[in-house]
Amino acid sequence: MCVDFASGKTSVFGIIGNPVEKSFSPVLQNTIAKEFGKDVAYVPFKVEKGQVKTAVDGGRALGIKGFNVTVPHKIEVMEALCAIDPVAERIGSVNTLKLTENGYVGYNTDIIGLKKCFEERNISIEGKTVVLAGAGGAANSAAMLAGEERAGKLIIVNRTEEKAVKLAERVRKYYPIEVETASYDSITDIENPEIFVQTTSVGMGNDIEGTPVKNAGFFDNVRIVVDIIYTPWETRLMRDAAAHGAITVNGFDMLFYQGLASFEIWHDMKADMKKAAELKERLTEFYRRGQQK
Ligand code: NAP
Repeated sequence: MCVDFASGKTSVFGIIGNPVEKSFSPVLQNTIAKEFGKDVAYVPFKVEKGQVKTAVDGGRALGIKGFNVTVPHKIEVMEALCAIDPVAERIGSVNTLKLTENGYVGYNTDIIGLKKCFEERNISIEGKTVVLAGAGGAANSAAMLAGEERAGKLIIVNRTEEKAVKLAERVRKYYPIEVETASYDSITDIENPEIFVQTTSVGMGNDIEGTPVKNAGFFDNVRIVVDIIYTPWETRLMRDAAAHGAITVNGFDMLFYQGLASFEIWHDMKADMKKAAELKERLTEFYRRGQQK
């Protein structure tokens, strides 16, 4: 099944952000709904800063069943919610809202999407040294994932050191794992950096040949690199890491699985993972073809 306007019972979902015109979420969510037989319409809503609560309250009045939330509203939206999932509270931002009797409850599924990148490849984070590049919004999810999965050590590397220090303090507040900060210049001194997660915006947009890790020799001891960028499909950092023997994963897997996790929350269900993996392959093809145009 897919959207069935004749049913009179179509559930409406949407994404709130600014800009949202280029968001892949409408394609992603409507395709997932079709695959899993839900009578759903999912649409983008461009919302200005300062208007997020008004938009969310309006969504409730209209009976919109759920929202995804993207840049720049993931923090502002928190004041419009009746409850927030504890993991989202720790991350400090919300990307999924689910309508309940009392209003919208907020969740963060970026962390679930990122976790799946490791699970799908049978790579456990537990006990490993995780090096995290970046200390912005997405880095918060990655840092809390390291805590949730009991990494042996988390090392946060960021251009602005004080933001790395702040994030490190936040992780220590919630999880009993070892957390340190480092600079890009000293990154090659890190011992056994088995897992590397790249969450900066370096390597995309106008900076397509950029990489935060200038000395690619660093990747000699890294087993897996997840770069959460997916446009371009392969960043320079991923190319460098692959040339030094690391498994590389771009951000499309995270994008797909965060969307699937939102869908599961909205519909109170667990998706069949084999079916989900096949769907991810099809959407990957679709997305890559779109990029080549
Ligand atoms: P953000 O909060 O603005 O953080 C940006 C990060 O990039 C900061 O740590 C910043 O360091 C760093 N940075 C920017 N320019 C830099 C430079 N020239 N050199 C070194 N570091 C630099 O952004 P965000 O929301 O975390 O998003 C970051 C990236 O993740 C974006 O590319 C976004 O598209 C992607 N993302 C992907 C997914 C997915 O599902 N795949 C989900 C969320 C986000 P400073 O602190 O020093 O400024």
